[in-house]
Amino acid sequence: MARDWLKGIRPAYDVAIIGSGLGGLTAANMLARDGHSVLLLEHHFKLGGLATWFHRKGGHIFDVSLHGFPVGMIKTCRKYWSREIADSIVQLKGIRFDNPQFNLTTTFDREDFTRIMREHFKVPQGPIEEFFDTARSMNFYDDQSMTTRQLFEKFFPGRGDVVRLLMEPIAYANGSTLDDPAISYGIVFSNFMSKGVYTFQGGTDKIIGMMQAELLKNGVDIRTNALVEQVTVEQGRVSGIVVNGQPVKTRSVLSNANIKSTIEMAGETNFSRDFVEEGNRTRLNNSSCQVYIGIRKGESIDYVGDLYFTSEADEFDSDKLRSRDITSRTFSFYYPSIRPGSEMYSIVASTNANYDDWAELSSEQYHKSKQQLIKTTLDSLEKYVPGVREKVDYVDAATPRTFERYTLHPCGTSFGTKFEGLKTSMTLPQELPGLFHTGSVGIIMSGWLGAANYGVIVANNVDKYLRL
Ligand SMILES: Cc1cc2nc3c(=O)[nH]c(=O)nc-3n(C[C@H](O)[C@H](O)[C@H](O)COP(=O)(O)OP(=O)(O)OC[C@H]3O[C@@H](n4cnc5c(N)ncnc54)[C@H](O)[C@@H]3O)c2cc1C
Repeated sequence: MARDWLKGIRPAYDVAIIGSGLGGLTAANMLARDGHSVLLLEHHFKLGGLATWFHRKGGHIFDVSLHGFPVGMIKTCRKYWSREIADSIVQLKGIRFDNPQFNLTTTFDREDFTRIMREHFKVPQGPIEEFFDTARSMNFYDDQSMTTRQLFEKFFPGRGDVVRLLMEPIAYANGSTLDDPAISYGIVFSNFMSKGVYTFQGGTDKIIGMMQAELLKNGVDIRTNALVEQVTVEQGRVSGIVVNGQPVKTRSVLSNANIKSTIEMAGETNFSRDFVEEGNRTRLNNSSCQVYIGIRKGESIDYVGDLYFTSEADEFDSDKLRSRDITSRTFSFYYPSIRPGSEMYSIVASTNANYDDWAELSSEQYHKSKQQLIKTTLDSLEKYVPGVREKVDYVDAATPRTFERYTLHPCGTSFGTKFEGLKTSMTLPQELPGLFHTGSVGIIMSGWLGAANYGVIVANNVDKYLRL
């Protein structure tokens, strides 16, 4: 008989959380700490959403989205999780670039970027300082009409090389393009520039395991393999959810699924027509491709840096960055130090990708394209780690179709929606009392830090609603 993943579930909760990405997990922890009864529902068999990992034979563990996050994650983890989690966050110091315009290594913070821009790119100190100050002072309530392209044009006119240095890593970090609002660039860029790029020592499996233990300690009822099909509504308010075909009463629902899927789950008829139309107009952000490369046990590779932004494209170009005809890749190198006690090395190559380039391929074309992706990635990696092919005993690839399958995000979006999705997400409870949304949305609220912090903001709103 099939296992009943909802066995022992209670008839009613204060809040059901749909999805266990970092936004959903952080909100669940806060709401449980606030004394609410919390039911956390995840369709996948493990928690974490895109903050995930997988094991493969040969002793390999691959991290999917542990390439780097801003220092702010330390404070967020300390305040909303635990000191132990915060204490395992460490800096990555070897960030490298290699492209036809420049080749350099940096610690990826304001001081080092200022030095590079002065010494390497010969930019005068004045515009550099002004640029950093402008980016740092940006916030959500600012004028949103200026694009990132205009921002760069204002401070570094005609300097495609400087734009590439400033833009390429952020395009990988949140899918933003030169035509997105400048604040979606400025906020994320400044977060990184404050102190560089950080990672979690122990790997994604460890941080998510620690979070799970914390949730259980705080009384959260966690259910995996639990697909929420519907948000139920009575008398204009949220009344519960239907999960794996079973109705459960809840006073509120916090969805960590994509904002568009959230509206669908609650039923469009429960919202005003303007709201639904705005939701329909909301553009999804891009997806990703990755190649996972495992180095045979007993073999090693020399230290070549932690994060390597590589490109063969002549200049920064958002379209080329997502194209199936790949010219740019970010290599993340995982040395044994990432999982103390382990002797394993692995490399994950990431590229931004368009869902449509992969969606319609026949299974034969799809298989061929994945093999091509793997081959060209290994070719490219040979430049940085000569002879690496001889040391590899596991390699596989993920595409936008993979991300769609595991997270249920429409079009396998890696970073939620474009900027306009933030308003839809924030105004959701005004349209349907009791329904809230958190997680990657609007570019700004994406990434490990953005998603976790948005979880905190929305958990406070849910808490207020429940106390009313
Ligand atoms: C390839 C890649 C690399 C990345 N690298 C980095 C990085 O280096 N640094 C960084 O900071 N960020 C990175 N990110 C982004 C970061 O991982 C995400 O922004 C963040 O983890 C998203 O968290 P979230 O709260 O939005 O939820 P998500 O991770 O999107 O999780 C949503 C969860 O909801 C579940 N769900 C959806 N619908 C349902 C349903 N109906 N019922 C039950 N469950 C449901 C899904 O299964 C999923 O678990 C990367 C992303 C990708 C794709």
